[in-house]
Amino acid sequence: MRYLITGGAGFIGSHLTEHLLARGDEVVALDNLSTGTLDNLTGVAGHPGFRFVRGSITDPNAVESCMAGIDAVFHLAAAVGVFTILDKTMDSLRTNLHGTENMLDAALRHDVPILVASTSEIYGKNTADGLREDDDRIIGSPLKNRWSYAEAKALDETFAHLYAVEHGLRTVIVRPFNTVGPRQTGRYGMVIPRFVTQALAGEPITVFGDGQQTRCFCHVHDVVPALADLLADESAYGKVFNLGSNEQTTISQLAERVIGATGSSSTITKVPYEEAYGDGYEDMQRRIPDCTRAYNQIGFVPTRSLDDIIAAVVADRRS
Ligand code: UDP
Repeated sequence: MRYLITGGAGFIGSHLTEHLLARGDEVVALDNLSTGTLDNLTGVAGHPGFRFVRGSITDPNAVESCMAGIDAVFHLAAAVGVFTILDKTMDSLRTNLHGTENMLDAALRHDVPILVASTSEIYGKNTADGLREDDDRIIGSPLKNRWSYAEAKALDETFAHLYAVEHGLRTVIVRPFNTVGPRQTGRYGMVIPRFVTQALAGEPITVFGDGQQTRCFCHVHDVVPALADLLADESAYGKVFNLGSNEQTTISQLAERVIGATGSSSTITKVPYEEAYGDGYEDMQRRIPDCTRAYNQIGFVPTRSLDDIIAAVVADRRS
């Protein structure tokens, strides 16, 4: 198979590229290197089955130039990270809306299946114990910039759904819950690489808010095979799947575990949300996935624990 991966130089995209090449597939990676980097692709540079194209998903010509001979598309490219969304809200919104529309158009024109990466953020402030794919979204004001990412991704899902229903496009939508692992950078906000980098430098670990908010982190090596399995499974088309772990931690506990894993002398500092993200920021207090649907579809069960994830990120940062 020959796959197009948008966001192929990003954190998840580069791991997916390696996974597909290792099993004998070919990959074209399209990336504008806004948050992705060629450093993520050093392991596959020069591979005969791999081609990198620098370009944006918002440019239909760049997209079209990648589509020749493609059998299926993983659409992972997006403006990501809370800091990115708050710093460049309008650009991010445009990328995440128009870029996805372009990719759906291209997949339809070439009659190939497409996996659309959405996000667990679309559930917003719904704190249900095990969020299911059909659960309601509880989202703050559209004038609060934080929610613009969730809003764009929700519309992307609706677009994908309508392309499937009205045009017969073969689509799969996935909602990853806090995917983490080697190569993820903390520069755009993601908490585990930030805490590990702070701990290794002996700097204070910055816990935002009261630290009682919870998350479930999932190793990228558990997520990537699931992406490949879902796009290969025709009976998954037209559906949406959560992908995540159900091992919960508060962010304060996470900070302590990172200190323990690194042997760091760092202290923990609580930073008010306004200071971290600006006025009017709203966080999700709890976000736990129910992945029964992905389990029933492809046998999805994450095998790496939070300790495994922290150890992997520490090893990555140390190297
Ligand atoms: N967070 C934190 N310190 C940081 C970065 C993030 O306490 O330096 C918090 C953040 O406010 C949120 C959680 O960690 O409650 C997860 O943040 P991340 O941006 O990784 O993911 P998301 O908010 O999208 O779940």
